[in-house]
Amino acid sequence: MTTVVVTGANRGIGLELCRQFARRGDKVIATCRKDSLELRETGAEIHEGIEVTDDASIHALAGELQGRRIDILVNCAGILTRESLDDLDIDRIRRQFEINAISPLRVTAALQGCLGRGSKVAIITSRMGSIEDNTSGGYYGYRMSKAAVNIVARSLAHDLKDRGVSVFLIHPGMVATEMTGHRGIPPEEAAADLVVRIDSLGPEDSGTFWHAKGDLLPW
Ligand code: NDP
Repeated sequence: MTTVVVTGANRGIGLELCRQFARRGDKVIATCRKDSLELRETGAEIHEGIEVTDDASIHALAGELQGRRIDILVNCAGILTRESLDDLDIDRIRRQFEINAISPLRVTAALQGCLGRGSKVAIITSRMGSIEDNTSGGYYGYRMSKAAVNIVARSLAHDLKDRGVSVFLIHPGMVATEMTGHRGIPPEEAAADLVVRIDSLGPEDSGTFWHAKGDLLPW
């Protein structure tokens, strides 16, 4: 049985990923700060109280999962705040870095003992972190944090290659969740696309940056 770990699983894209992985028969391990009725209804094994910016919390999770194999690790937890040049809140920018860029590294490093040959690590990034694709500016913290996590993934791909672990960056599209004020494609569609993408990518694709619909994205 395939074992999948999803962070930020109580709502949004993470919740829908748990639903869809569970529905097809995968063993789903869902992590969240606080669970939700919807998450409980998926039947996932829930690890609550998991704050991705907190070392102790992530080490506790690693301890709880020690000795188990993770086939797919989805780093999904993330935040978006909106900064403009005239409204630069540096603490908010730092917070996005902590959650969006540093935490996927912290979580993947802490759980690396559970990853083995054939395991996949998916980081839910954004095309807003693409330098080439930035044609409109603004969103300083979000763009910076997603650009940073993109290079995290590339380094992880190199560092985990010898162990047969692949690492992918996937942009889900604009998805109707709390993050976007519920504008965009339904989370069901985004999660279905993400599952297809994760399934279709292999070791030869490790360290690459994708749109969930199947296009390779520019850095
Ligand atoms: P939501 O705002 O709906 O959900 C965010 C999730 O992240 C929640 O489960 C939230 O938990 C969790 N989270 C946030 N901060 C922390 C933290 N410090 N520790 C643990 N969990 C945390 O967003 P989406 O589902 O839309 O976003 C999921 C991912 O997809 C993010 O990485 C986002 O950047 C990315 N993405 C989303 C797009 C979109 O259009 N929606 C587009 C491109 C990328 P809690 O309920 O406890 O706050």
